Amino acid sequence: MNVLFAASECAPVVKVGGLGDVVGSLPIALDQIDINCAVVIPAYKPLIDSQATLFTNRLLHTEVKFGEKAEPVNVFKTVIPKTKIPLYLIQNDTYLSNGGIYFDATAFVTSQGEIDRFAFFSKALAQVFLDEPGCDFKPDVIHCHDWHTGFVPKLVADIVPTVFTIHNLANQGFSSVDVAQKLGLDINKSKILSWDALDSNLDFIMQGILNATFITTVSPTYAREILTPIFGEGLHEVLEAREGRLYGILNGIDCSVWNPEKDPYIKPNFNLKSLDKKQECKVALQTALDLPSTPKKPILAVVSRLTTQKGIDMIISLMDEILGLGCQLVVLGTGDPSLENKLRIKEAELAKEGLFEARVLLEYNEELAHKIYAGSDIFLVPSRFEPCGLTQMIAMRYGTIPLVRQVGGLADSVVSGKTGFSFVNFNDSEFLDALKRALNYYSYKDEWRKLVTNAMEQDFSWAESAKKYADIYQLALDE
Ligand code: ADP
Repeated sequence: MNVLFAASECAPVVKVGGLGDVVGSLPIALDQIDINCAVVIPAYKPLIDSQATLFTNRLLHTEVKFGEKAEPVNVFKTVIPKTKIPLYLIQNDTYLSNGGIYFDATAFVTSQGEIDRFAFFSKALAQVFLDEPGCDFKPDVIHCHDWHTGFVPKLVADIVPTVFTIHNLANQGFSSVDVAQKLGLDINKSKILSWDALDSNLDFIMQGILNATFITTVSPTYAREILTPIFGEGLHEVLEAREGRLYGILNGIDCSVWNPEKDPYIKPNFNLKSLDKKQECKVALQTALDLPSTPKKPILAVVSRLTTQKGIDMIISLMDEILGLGCQLVVLGTGDPSLENKLRIKEAELAKEGLFEARVLLEYNEELAHKIYAGSDIFLVPSRFEPCGLTQMIAMRYGTIPLVRQVGGLADSVVSGKTGFSFVNFNDSEFLDALKRALNYYSYKDEWRKLVTNAMEQDFSWAESAKKYADIYQLALDE
């Protein structure tokens, strides 16, 4: 079976968040159970500028009609680095290969430029993979990811079945209704489109939900949560209408990339039998970040997009108390400029008071992320909502104990008191209580080691989840 992944990110080529990790790693696991996958993403300008080797093989040139205009398109073919999975990049100067990757730092605000970019991408990929004789991959199923590809199921309806995965329902892609005409769709001929257009806009993610053969989301708990008004982002009734076709499948992580035994970014490498070496990674992290080298103090860490979704605002407001409990704190992230600013100010204030136990790194830095996962003790993910979350699973793989809010995929992957700590309601006191519980455990070396061992023994590989996706592709094909 041939499955085409259509997405906005694919690690390691382009990654802003967990979506990139999933698109870059699930196809590898599917390949091992004989599902032939290929991935298609836009040829963003930063890729063209910095990764020329991706663009040495031009597969085809064509024109794609968008509105009244025919746009020139080039399709390049390569592979996901270090794999055999084909990766196709669609290049077009007007919509795809100008500017940056996303237009907004939080990836949560969708400008018209962004809407046009992904509407065009969806139209182009449907044409390339279904109509172009020069294309060498013919999908039996198209697996679409998030709002960016929300219109693909409609564009390919009756030709090829689709699976639409919701990675984050909060980011929906709202467009003025004229996008339908640009896509060659007649609103008056589609009940779903004309209903969606009643409020004078079209919702990309809703189109995906309503038109896909099957819908999945990235954890079983989030699949249940989005059927409720609190987590449904205004679409809970729409999702309820398609509940029989909605599945929650927990994301996996690429255990060859996230592997403390072989990770080239960390020194020394370690495994369950050489846990003392994790302590050396901690000292190395403290040295690299110019933190006081106090092996007994727990390092609390955050590696995250900086958004209120992730509870970053709560961490900022509690920073004094966290440090007051005798911890060090490391935050690595980029995102919402106002949160970045607050973090910058907070770090400076603490330094002024002579408190040098917190480091804020406002950058995207893959290498440093690996060093933080390996060298810290407790990993904080106090999200307001969390479709799946990968960072808590990565942390566990490195023996770093997650402290999470019991929500979405965090609830599905962290067992409080066994592999981590959790709290239920989003508020300061429940978070601090959970932190105090964690610190109490930390003070008992043997108890802590047991937790670390449990966490590292968890299997977060893709193997089981890949089988579930394969079953859904088969169901879609059998319709
Ligand atoms: P989301 O997709 O909501 O951003 P996830 O937990 O699913 O969150 O995935 C986040 C991914 O992005 C992880 O692989 C994490 O290590 C990575 N990441 C986030 N911020 C940074 C950063 N500033 N530098 C390096 N990696 C980051």
